[in-house]
Amino acid sequence: MVEDRELHCIICGEHKAEGEGIRIVSEFICETCESEMVHTDVKDAKYPFFIHQMKQIFIEKNA
Ligand SMILES: [Zn+2]
Repeated sequence: MVEDRELHCIICGEHKAEGEGIRIVSEFICETCESEMVHTDVKDAKYPFFIHQMKQIFIEKNA
């Protein structure tokens, strides 16, 4: 039995099934965003956006 809980992706804001992504701390990143991050070059304009979104996870934890 797989419990398909819906999780909120911190990057794109979409709701995805738990099996469709990865958990980081208590947050969730869907596999679409995860693979996009992996394929995003550091020089890419999108990279700072990903870093910004990721930072929010840890800022919340340390608040
Ligand atoms: Zn996403």
